[in-house]
Amino acid sequence: VSETSAPFYGNADTVARIERKIAEGRLGHALIFSGPEGIGKRTWALRVAQALNCNATDSPTGCGTCRSCQRVVSLTHPDVQYLTLEDDASQIKIEQIRALRSQLELEALEGAARVYIIDPAERMTPGAANALLKALEEPPPGTHFLLVTANVHELLVTIRSRCHVYHFTPLSLAQVRAAGIDDELVVRWSQGSIGRALATDPEGLRSLRDELLDFLSVASTAPAGQLAVLPGAAADLARSKEDFAGKVRALGVLVSDLLYLRTGLDARLVNIDREADLRRIADRIGLDRVVELGDTLRFIETSLKRYVNRQMLADALVLAANPETARLTGRV
Ligand SMILES: [Zn+2]
Repeated sequence: VSETSAPFYGNADTVARIERKIAEGRLGHALIFSGPEGIGKRTWALRVAQALNCNATDSPTGCGTCRSCQRVVSLTHPDVQYLTLEDDASQIKIEQIRALRSQLELEALEGAARVYIIDPAERMTPGAANALLKALEEPPPGTHFLLVTANVHELLVTIRSRCHVYHFTPLSLAQVRAAGIDDELVVRWSQGSIGRALATDPEGLRSLRDELLDFLSVASTAPAGQLAVLPGAAADLARSKEDFAGKVRALGVLVSDLLYLRTGLDARLVNIDREADLRRIADRIGLDRVVELGDTLRFIETSLKRYVNRQMLADALVLAANPETARLTGRV
C-alpha cells in the first residue's frame, strides 16, 4: 500500500492549501513543514515529491501506484533525495549539503521535478545550514526543498525568511481514534500524535504509568519523620539511563493531570482510569507543590541535554513533590 492511497488524518486545512498550490503549479521552491513528531509531516513531504513526479497526469496529488510514486516512497527515486541524520550522528553535516549542491550543479534533471527533503532540518550544523542557504538563494528551475522540523524557530531566520511555512498541529483525540487507535489510554497519552500512538505498547505504557504514579504517591506522602524512604524512591527512578528521559516525560503527563485536577480542568485528564489516585495526591500536596513539580521536571529536561547526574535530578523531584520537605527547607 502506498502512502498516497492510505487515508490521512488531521490537518485538513494545511493539506488542502498544499494540494491547491500543487494543482495550480504554484508550489514554492522552499517549504517548511513544522509541527510535533508523528503527525504526518514526513508523509506529506513524500506526497509532495510524488505529486510533482507522478506519471499519471490526471492526479494532481500523485496517484501513489505508478512506478515514480512507488520509487518516491521507497526512497529510490533518482530525483528525490531524503537527507537525514547518518547512523549515530546527532546533526546533519555540511558534507551532506555539499553533496546535494554538487548534484544540483552536475546532474541533469531526470523527471519533472527535483525534491530535497531535509528531516529533521533543525539538526543541521551551522555550516550545513549556511551551505543550504546558498542553494535556497538561487534554486535551479524545477527544484524544491522541503524542510521538515519539529520547531521552525530553531532554524536560521535567514532560512525561514526564504521558505513558505506550513504548520502541522496535533490531532484531536477523536481524530486519533478515527485513525484506528482503540486503546483509550494510548489515545490520551498520544498528545495528538498518531506516530507516537502507533509506537506505544499499551501494556508497557500501563506498567510505566503505574510505577510512576507509585513514585509520586510515595514522594508526596512520606511524613517528616520518615523522609529516609525518599532517596530510595529517587534511586529507583534514576537507575537506568535509557529510561530516565522517558520517565521524566511520562511524569510530566502525570503532573499535568494533577494540575488539571487542582484547577478544575478535569475534562483534560489523560489518566482517567486512575483519577481517584491522582485526586488523592493532588489534594494532599496542593497547587504550589504541583507547580513546583512541573518547574522541576522542565529543569530536568533541559539539564538532561547538558550533563547527567540522574540521582541528583531525581532527588530534586522527590523534594519538590513532598510537602514536609518543602516546609523544612522553607519553601512554603
Ligand atoms: Zn503516480
